Amino acid sequence: MRCKKGLGLLLALLLLLLPVMPAFADSQPEIRNIILLIGDGMGPNHLTLAREHGVDLFMDKNANAYGFSRTRSADHEVTDSAAGGTALACGVRTLNRAIGTYQNDPAGLIALPVSIAEVAKARGMRTGVVTTDLTSGATPSCFSAHTRDRDNEAQITAQQLASGYDLIWGNEVDKTDRAAVEAAGWTCVSTRQEMEALPVGSRSFGQFTGDTWRTTLDPDGDVPMLAGMTEKAIALLSTNNTKGFFLMVEGAHIDKMSHKTQKNEDGTKDPNYPSKVERAVDAMRGFDNAVRIAAEFAAKDGHTVVLVTADHETGDLRPENGVMTYHSGSHTGVNVPVLVFGPKVIEDGEVLDNKEIPARLAAVCGWDKNAFPAARTVSDVLFGDVDFDGSVSAGDARLTLRRSVGLEDYGEETLPFLVSDVDFDGIVTAGDARAVLRASVGLEEPSVWRAGYFARTAG
Ligand SMILES: [Zn+2]
Repeated sequence: MRCKKGLGLLLALLLLLLPVMPAFADSQPEIRNIILLIGDGMGPNHLTLAREHGVDLFMDKNANAYGFSRTRSADHEVTDSAAGGTALACGVRTLNRAIGTYQNDPAGLIALPVSIAEVAKARGMRTGVVTTDLTSGATPSCFSAHTRDRDNEAQITAQQLASGYDLIWGNEVDKTDRAAVEAAGWTCVSTRQEMEALPVGSRSFGQFTGDTWRTTLDPDGDVPMLAGMTEKAIALLSTNNTKGFFLMVEGAHIDKMSHKTQKNEDGTKDPNYPSKVERAVDAMRGFDNAVRIAAEFAAKDGHTVVLVTADHETGDLRPENGVMTYHSGSHTGVNVPVLVFGPKVIEDGEVLDNKEIPARLAAVCGWDKNAFPAARTVSDVLFGDVDFDGSVSAGDARLTLRRSVGLEDYGEETLPFLVSDVDFDGIVTAGDARAVLRASVGLEEPSVWRAGYFARTAG
């Protein structure tokens, strides 16, 4: 009898639960789109500074959750934007200056950590990178390139042009060859008007010129500001798209302007300190405007997660006589804000490692645990792929052959043995070109070359 009664109670409980469970599932909308906004150099006190200067800040007032990120790099308590960006892009901590490479393998000899943007692209999502920095700046590079040093500008640009992303927009890189950009299949835009005219389905490389577009203090109608870039990027990535998108937006000038408040790294104030602070505040205003655009899109769309954070704090901003004051011209190891709009991927007040952030974003989108963080062996991307277009082809063989007879340079920073000495005999020869050519038509496996490398180094 007792047993029967217990069973009846259990059934009653189950009946009570049944209608609840599907409703619970329905209340978790599918998240398809990721917008990650990085305020370079933005510590928690930068938000206070902006408010002290009369900015009606949107980001923290409206966020669903406010937590913090520990920013240290693999080799320093205080990170730079390269290692900080690598953690936010690839989910791994690496050495300062390294862009999307492992700390124990900074040259990328064995494997490369894949960025969340690259995984998104591989999943058929649209992909965009937007910054107020140069397109080859450390933060945008971490989402679109892999190289041991942030100064490897030519290599970064070459990899970006081979990325297949839908848009990469930022300030103009020196010597960017517009014709070469267009030959690589990109529409090169350099004004606000050109950017705004871009149609859905275009692939665009933004090379904006001029300084004033970076701030809201002295706007120039011909150059876009971050909020306008964010709005247009979201429109291009989201229109007629069922597969979702990934967009990284960087406000680089919070960091740049915070550096400039001090004359020296030791904290000697710049003679024009008040106007320098005004610039930093304005960079916060411009970034906050971009956050608002992203958050409003997410609220309307219902399938988007927006996460706002920083790679590190800049300026050791602390109260002095009740006023936020810069104490340094450098980065610090202070924990930085993590603000979320849409699904709560963090808890209020949670403190997490920077490298956890992209994994949280991947998880909320329902990606398989093995999809991210993930590694890719370099044999697939670097060995023999000397023009960095993503595949080993006859063009690579031709380039290798030209290099072997001195008709073409390696470029200032490519590692010759990595990119064309595929048989690892120490010199680039016609034999390497032949091996590349054989690989391009499937007669040889790039992995064989890697095996050769290990055999050589093991001895
Ligand atoms: Zn900096």
